[in-house]
Amino acid sequence: MGARTGRDYLERLDASRPDVIVHGERVSGGISAHPAFRNVTASYARLYDMQHDPALRDVLTYASPATGDRVGMSFLVPKAAADLERRRAAMSAWARVSGGMLGRTGDYLNSALMALSQAGDWFAQADPAYAGNIAAYYERVREQDLLLTHTLIPPQVNRSVTGSQQGGGALMARITGQDDNGITVRGARMLATIGPIADELLVFPSTVLRATADDAPYAFAFAIPCDTPGLRFICRQSLDHTPQEGRTHQDAPLSSRFEEMDAVVVFDDVHVPWTRIFMLGHPELCNGFYSATDAVVHMTHQVACRTTAKTEFILGLVSLLTEAIGIEQFGHVLEDVAEIVIALETARAMLRAAEADATVNEFGVFTPAWAPLNACRNWYPKAYQRFPAIIRKLGASGLMALPTEADLAGQAAADIDAYLQAKNLNATDRVRLFRLAWDAALSDFAGRQALYEYYFFGDPVRMAEALVRGYDREPYKERVRQFLRGQD
Ligand SMILES: Cc1cc2nc3c(=O)[nH]c(=O)nc-3n(C[C@H](O)[C@H](O)[C@H](O)COP(=O)(O)OP(=O)(O)OC[C@H]3O[C@@H](n4cnc5c(N)ncnc54)[C@H](O)[C@@H]3O)c2cc1C
Repeated sequence: MGARTGRDYLERLDASRPDVIVHGERVSGGISAHPAFRNVTASYARLYDMQHDPALRDVLTYASPATGDRVGMSFLVPKAAADLERRRAAMSAWARVSGGMLGRTGDYLNSALMALSQAGDWFAQADPAYAGNIAAYYERVREQDLLLTHTLIPPQVNRSVTGSQQGGGALMARITGQDDNGITVRGARMLATIGPIADELLVFPSTVLRATADDAPYAFAFAIPCDTPGLRFICRQSLDHTPQEGRTHQDAPLSSRFEEMDAVVVFDDVHVPWTRIFMLGHPELCNGFYSATDAVVHMTHQVACRTTAKTEFILGLVSLLTEAIGIEQFGHVLEDVAEIVIALETARAMLRAAEADATVNEFGVFTPAWAPLNACRNWYPKAYQRFPAIIRKLGASGLMALPTEADLAGQAAADIDAYLQAKNLNATDRVRLFRLAWDAALSDFAGRQALYEYYFFGDPVRMAEALVRGYDREPYKERVRQFLRGQD
């Protein structure tokens, strides 16, 4: 089959029956018809349609080595610099569609799966069957163009003990049984973004496990369809308010298109067949799942493409806003714009450095340099927090003087035309621009975006700790020692 169209994606999704609970009710019909998912699934469908646009076909797809069918570029196993460039071009093209606001497009976890599928020797340390399973799963996802999500962390009950110690060990998803056909899993994981609109759920290792027999039941990696019996998604409230309130895309330009639901994941005696298991009962291997396979590097490569596109979008938005209300002549305004420019150039430089210093890893995969990407994934979560703050500071009251699209043609139309025009925009265009700024900086959607970026790769505090501990500072310490010695 190969690369899907939007219609392929929606039809498969609507034929599936995941157990999804949203706003106190269980979704009973097709997912894409539900008000909480209608608009975002349309956005995802648009991405899949792009794969069939003649102008983008060669950017977004390549010929499958197995079938010759066109398949998504994020499945391409890079062997040389040109392959990394092709991957970047495809990932950036998708990211630009949403201004980087869609954080779980398929290319993110396809990149992880691509790297994992090549690391067969690493999986074989536990069992050669796992190496075969991950390679076969990668091929299936590639050929069917399935949309994956993942769930990693334990419920946030008591962080003063490990996940496996919470609630006497009975809360975090764990293996409770094993038979000839596979394993049974019970418990919960905290969150899966896009769980209700994805095809498959990756249940991979995350938090550090203790290398003891006690933690063995919590050590696993497997993949299951999102409508597997016993699997439940408990959604937060939808941040796309347009369906309930009868509002337009112009009223909520981002949240009415790119609201990716987050859901708690419950495993109610979920059965997982052996063929879908990639690791079982090896806490010490699970702790190195992403780093030893270089999956984290390719995931971060995708994220750096997305966050670069997001920074470009924010820069464009802020620049239109400052022009519109005539504040570009003030030095402190340009200082804030400069901060975004510098962030953009920093992101681009890190991405470029990672590609320029790429090497072939032990599994034969051409892999970007980790140091610049690791710096990028530690830096961006904090850098991003400034962008909505800058929009709020520069937009000021304009972010509240925001009639709806209905008002533009309603009783107040004449007043709006007169009093809400901008220096270089008529009132309609100004209101639309400021609506976009509001949805990027002030709406509940904007709040979720800021939280999402902050915690994207995990807790920034512990990530920083890990970065420093893994960074070779010895050459620089030695240089300073030499300097001190040279003073005598
Ligand atoms: C919008 C959003 C979407 C998400 N989507 C997904 C998803 O699709 N899949 C998925 O698996 N996860 C997802 N996550 C979860 C994300 O991975 C976590 O938020 C992140 O790993 C931090 O874990 P936590 O939220 O449990 O925070 P906690 O670990 O509970 O931390 C809370 C606070 O306590 C501090 N703290 C807690 N423990 C320690 C400690 N041991 N040492 C020092 N400080 C500590 C932290 O610094 C932090 O300030 C998502 C999160 C958000 C916000």
